[in-house]
Formats: sequence, structure tokens, C-alpha cells
Amino acid sequence: MARYRGSVCRLCRREATKLFLKGDRCYSEKCAIERRNYPPGQHGQGRTRFSDYGLQLREKQKVKRIYGVLERKMVRTMKQAARMKGLSGENLLSLLERRLDSVVFRLGFATSRVEARQLVRHGHFLVNGRRATIPSMLVKPGWRITLTDKAKKVERITASLDALERRSVPSWLEIDKENFEGTVTGMPVRDEITLPIQEQLIVELYSR
Ligand code: SF4
Repeated sequence: MARYRGSVCRLCRREATKLFLKGDRCYSEKCAIERRNYPPGQHGQGRTRFSDYGLQLREKQKVKRIYGVLERKMVRTMKQAARMKGLSGENLLSLLERRLDSVVFRLGFATSRVEARQLVRHGHFLVNGRRATIPSMLVKPGWRITLTDKAKKVERITASLDALERRSVPSWLEIDKENFEGTVTGMPVRDEITLPIQEQLIVELYSR
């Protein structure tokens, strides 16, 4: 699978906002957005004006980078969102939030979605008692996400759970830290996606 191997902080600087791709570092003073909040590259500090298309493109790229999805997957998710009832933009975000890697991150088992994706791939999680290794799996209300016995001893998972106070668990998820168990209690709520995303621009881009 294609994978971006450059500096992820560059991606945040390009989008001029924190995308929280690096775990603990994102909450510290070392965050590149705190220190150099302008686009990377030689002309990064020059004047930037975006066309309508440019604005829509940047918004789409931002969301792809936050959730770590590639273009083909993004197009498929957008089509799925358009077929659902309600606003396509909100449906798109809901589908992305319900991805297993995103849920693992939101429950606090990982410090970033990138880390969550790797932990899922390595088979550390059970969904309803069965090992799940597909990061794009969509969770549904009532599903339980637990750790394998081996994973309960993985230090970065326990450390991430200990540091959970820094982030809030959304109301549609429940975490039982003692038993390493997360439960999906409902569907994602738009208001609880606090990253600055204008999903309508993405819908407009894909309707061109
Ligand atoms: Fe880097 Fe995280 Fe800051 Fe983004 S939010 S610039 S990934 S440290």
C-alpha cells in the first residue's frame, strides 16, 4: 500500500492546523505548528491565495491526512456517504470516525491514529471477541473492542490509556480502563469532531 514517508509535521504546516499525527509531541511545545505556523518550503512565508477549487482541495487533503486514508478509499467513502440519508458531509465524517483505527485512537488505546492503525494491523484488538486486523472496519453500536492478553502488557497501550485525561472520549464511545474494554454506544456526533473541518467543501469538490 502506498504510504507517506516524509515528515508528518509538514502535513500539519501545509494545512495550517494541528492534525495530531504524532501522539504526545502534538501536545507539547515541540509541535511544529506552535513553532513555525506557516506552510513548508521556500515560498511558505509568501502570500497565499486560494481559488474555490484550491480551498476545496485543501479541505479534502486535510481530512485524508487526519484519518490516514488514500484517495481511492476517500472516493469510495464519499460515494457511500452520498447514498446515506442526511447530509453527505456529515455522513462522510461519521463513516471516517467509525473506522476501527479511529475508534481505537478515540478510546485512548493509542496516542494517534497512525499508531492505532499499526496496533490494529499487528492484531492487538478483538472486536466482539474476534481478532480484527482491518483498520478500515466500520464499527456499529453495541460492538465491544477489547485487547488480546498479550496486548494488555504492551507498554505504549497502557501508557496511552494512562494519559487519556488529555483527550476526551466522545459520548458515543465508552471506555473501561480497568478491563481494557471499549464499547460503541451510539453513532458519531458531528459536534464532537472538534478539528476544524468544513465538510461541505469536500462534498462540493467531489460533485464537480
Ligand atoms: Fe507535528 Fe503533531 Fe504538531 Fe502536527 S500536531 S505539527 S504532527 S507535532
